[in-house]
Amino acid sequence: MQFTIKEKHVDVKKEVDVLVVGGGPAGIGAAVAAARSGQKVMLLEKRGFLGGNITGCYVETCNHFLHGTSFEAHGIYAEIEEKYKEQYGRSHDIRINSPHRFSSEYLKVFLDEFLLKEGVELSFHSFVNDVIVEENKIQCVIIQSKKGPVAIKAAVVIDASGDGDVAFSAGVPFEQGRDTDGLCQPGTVNFRLAGADVNKLTGEVDQLKVIGKRFNQDYRAGKTGLSCKRQDLPFGRLTPGGQITYVNYPCAYKIDPTDVEGLTRGELECRQYIMEFYEYAKKNFEGFENIELASIAPEIGFRDSRRIKGLYRLTKEDIEAQRVFDDAIALYPRIYDMLAPDAYMDGDGKMEGEGYKGHIYEPITDTRTYTIPYRSLLPVDITNLIVAGRCISADHVAESSIRGISCCMLTGQAAGAAAGLANKSKVAPKDIDVKELQAVLRTQRVVLP
Ligand SMILES: Cc1cc2nc3c(=O)[nH]c(=O)nc-3n(C[C@H](O)[C@H](O)[C@H](O)COP(=O)(O)OP(=O)(O)OC[C@H]3O[C@@H](n4cnc5c(N)ncnc54)[C@H](O)[C@@H]3O)c2cc1C
Repeated sequence: MQFTIKEKHVDVKKEVDVLVVGGGPAGIGAAVAAARSGQKVMLLEKRGFLGGNITGCYVETCNHFLHGTSFEAHGIYAEIEEKYKEQYGRSHDIRINSPHRFSSEYLKVFLDEFLLKEGVELSFHSFVNDVIVEENKIQCVIIQSKKGPVAIKAAVVIDASGDGDVAFSAGVPFEQGRDTDGLCQPGTVNFRLAGADVNKLTGEVDQLKVIGKRFNQDYRAGKTGLSCKRQDLPFGRLTPGGQITYVNYPCAYKIDPTDVEGLTRGELECRQYIMEFYEYAKKNFEGFENIELASIAPEIGFRDSRRIKGLYRLTKEDIEAQRVFDDAIALYPRIYDMLAPDAYMDGDGKMEGEGYKGHIYEPITDTRTYTIPYRSLLPVDITNLIVAGRCISADHVAESSIRGISCCMLTGQAAGAAAGLANKSKVAPKDIDVKELQAVLRTQRVVLP
């Protein structure tokens, strides 16, 4: 059975120079860079706060991939980290050598103030699921509000929704998941625990790391009896009050992150895994005897979903060859982290061999880097749209590298600066002078070859 949706007339509520959809790492970079180029910028976010996966899924390990290497984050991400640290220090973190940069709750407040100070107009609870396209140009973006559809008009639109929702609505072709079966990495619902015994967990050795390692061995030996297939057990900050702020454990597999039925299954499954884990941890981990489940992340988080078709598709071969593109807008170290999409966990973690089927994990071990070309941010067919973050044009393995939070903010920053240049020169984003874009980015602490 089918119904026809009635034609509706929508008033344009607002007109801006640059409209950013999504307030995660990419959207933050995009909105700030566009505002700094003198544009009138509005950011639409479906949730009631900024931060994307960092705050919506408690992913406080923002620079986990770079931690303990010779690489440092740059651009707006580095600035945020520094300013946040000035204001909130270590966010009560007492773990030794901790890679956790933020408390996601303080970060929410920090980002509100940071973006408002930059002159970005924020619109929360603004879910975008439609656009009006005429002559290959987005005329306006439609928000689904409680009062019905609302239209916002902009000269340039930046899709930083993580899932490429704007590009999808505009009919841009996309890929999703791995080539063989379209499966994405699992969805995860992170959670927090309270009441951990701080004395037992601190000292010369980071006991949370020890627990994580032992858990992995016990899981592989079939000793845990837990039904979730995830073997790794990264923990977040440990606070003096005994809070563990991020338990990255429950994983729901074979879920399409853009499908309501799949998302519902993921949330339900992960909550069951959390309860099983909670009982297990209380009984088996030293220092967890009196823990309490403090909170469950507001939403299931995804590491990948749609990857839009752009003017250039970044590949793992480009990364392996350390290609330096003429239109490079970001430089990032060689790293891959792709959790097994099908829960096949016996891989060796390497790009080649069994790891290709299982979890691909290649941390940074040397100084290899690669670049991301501006063309990977430009979708085919639509002339005033730029994409940023984990949905840019890349193959599935390459995406497991560019998904790094500071990298997503770099592609966002490039998109925002490019939108500013396009509007100032009154040309389409694809026709801007890329050398000028690179020069602007360099003045904003972005390191390029
Ligand atoms: C469990 C987990 C652990 C991870 N661990 C790490 C790690 O250790 N280190 C690391 O660097 N990366 C990690 N990642 C990956 C990282 O979180 C993402 O790749 C990164 O956040 C992507 O940034 P983004 O801005 O592209 O998208 P997102 O962070 O997904 O942000 C997208 C934003 O857009 C909003 N939005 C979506 N659709 C719409 C719409 N239609 N209308 C309006 N708003 C919309 C969302 O609410 C969200 O705020 C992890 C991810 C997960 C899920």
